[in-house]
Amino acid sequence: MNTDCVFEPNVIDAATNDAWTQSLRAHIASCESCAAAAEVAPWMDAFSGINEREHILPDPAVLWLKARLLQSNAAVERASLPITRLQIAAYLIIAACWAALLTWKSAALQVWINRFSPTHVILGATGPDATASLSLTVLFAVIVLSSATVGVAMHTILAEE
Ligand SMILES: [Zn+2]
Repeated sequence: MNTDCVFEPNVIDAATNDAWTQSLRAHIASCESCAAAAEVAPWMDAFSGINEREHILPDPAVLWLKARLLQSNAAVERASLPITRLQIAAYLIIAACWAALLTWKSAALQVWINRFSPTHVILGATGPDATASLSLTVLFAVIVLSSATVGVAMHTILAEE
């Protein structure tokens, strides 16, 4: 490829400013070098103009920070969106009920839970007062609270999808 064509500067100028003359058009049809130059000239011109615009572009660090902030905002929004006020209230009520139940019947629950512990099963020592101390009401409350906890959790998981 001949890169030293005498018309090349004229061709680049014509391509950049879109100022083609009949003779230059005729020339690029026959000159491979000038045809290539004409093709890249507008792009090269735009590329050279980037330096002039540089001062109006924001600092890359600012751009990066902004992107990170927007990203985290979007993530927080996405994460908080499925959790409604109702769900938060449900969680709080369930947590309060668990706390109340555990405080109220902590000793009885401890005995009841111990019945399922490996040590207790191996020893085969079924405390005679275990079932008695844990009333049917407490057992019912545990079942209801467990179901409610699972229900709310499932609702949250399903809502996220
Ligand atoms: Zn040429």
